[in-house]
Amino acid sequence: MPLDPALRDRITTSVAEGFADQVAFTQGLIRFPSVRGEEQAIQDHLFRAFRERGLAMDRFSIDHAAIAGHPGGSKISEAHSEAPIVVGIHRPRAETGRSLILQSHVDVVPAGPADMWSAPPFDPVIRGDWLYGRGGADMKAGGAANLFCLDALRRIGLQPAATVTVQSVVEEESTGNGALMTHLRGYRADAVLIPEPEDEKLVRANTGVLWFEIEVRGMPVHVREMGAGQNAIDAAYRVVGALRAIEARWNADKAGRPHFEGEDHPINLNIGRIEGGDWASSVPAWCRLSCRIAIYPGVAAADAAREIEAAVTAFSRADPFLANNPPRLGFNGFFAEGYVLEEGSEAERVLGEAHRSATGSELESFMTAGYLDARVHALYDRVPTLCYGPVSRNIHGYDECVSLSSLQRITTAMALFVAEWCGVEPVA
Ligand code: ZN
Repeated sequence: MPLDPALRDRITTSVAEGFADQVAFTQGLIRFPSVRGEEQAIQDHLFRAFRERGLAMDRFSIDHAAIAGHPGGSKISEAHSEAPIVVGIHRPRAETGRSLILQSHVDVVPAGPADMWSAPPFDPVIRGDWLYGRGGADMKAGGAANLFCLDALRRIGLQPAATVTVQSVVEEESTGNGALMTHLRGYRADAVLIPEPEDEKLVRANTGVLWFEIEVRGMPVHVREMGAGQNAIDAAYRVVGALRAIEARWNADKAGRPHFEGEDHPINLNIGRIEGGDWASSVPAWCRLSCRIAIYPGVAAADAAREIEAAVTAFSRADPFLANNPPRLGFNGFFAEGYVLEEGSEAERVLGEAHRSATGSELESFMTAGYLDARVHALYDRVPTLCYGPVSRNIHGYDECVSLSSLQRITTAMALFVAEWCGVEPVA
């Protein structure tokens, strides 16, 4: 049943009234430099913020064995975060509406060279409509919106008339194991909303992602007899060439894939980190590459992994040096499949209406070619999973920022969505 226009206006006004506090709360979240493995403090902070709002609390760590036993689990490397997952549960007095999970992640990608930023990355500043800071857009603004859309209802004496589970996870930027752990813990709902920075659009299709590491061993000699040695860095470059061939083949395979064939280059291989050698005057004995590649929805991560292994093996056999010194290949992060959001769900219709009320325009959908935790709920909970959030710039780059006017519109849309999807009841 569509929301009563008077209620819609009250909710919209209430979001506006709380917005200054929401921005301050978001700035507070950005001040935590919550890169991978450093999310304990922000999770404690959010635990308190959830509890203050009267949510029933659950805090748990990622169960390594359970992750290893699930097909969507990613390899747990030494760099894996040990920070807990924080969940707060709203339970209505009468469960008359449809239940909902609101999820966000607190881990942020490394800030990179600080001198590339116009202000320190973990010291949020506002310039015009933009709030700057690492992780502000991706996705602390969304994490705050998850709480403030519920606050907006409470301010006018209302609460959802269905169970709403608010989840703050880690490991979204490297494995997706945090979101998977909420699934393994048993949390389910009739729909999931994740306010990632999606430019006020709904994610229709999303690639999966694999992380892998390749180590090449060389033969160290003094540079004056370089011809007698084997340069591991040069050999690694040759392996990169073989990886680029896989990338080209997978991109060529976009034909006939509905959400991908219109894209120039849907499958991106990133050589994200390279280490090797010891100093300038020895032929390097080692080189290590950290890589990331996307896969189409419907492609099994294990099949893609086998294809990468086979291609690297075949290339190495044909290479005079690598044939006798094969590179070591290991999967050390994301091992995640993509998803497609089925069109025509009731959840999408309700979000579309909320979006139209909040923004005055129709909700558009699009394909995004990077990992999203939404895949957990789409693939394994098998419920409509709405990834939808504010306009941003430079996520994963320097001077990352989020549009505040967009954030307010999105929060309004979220509050309207919650009110219609879950229904509302007076606060006890
Ligand atoms: Zn994100």
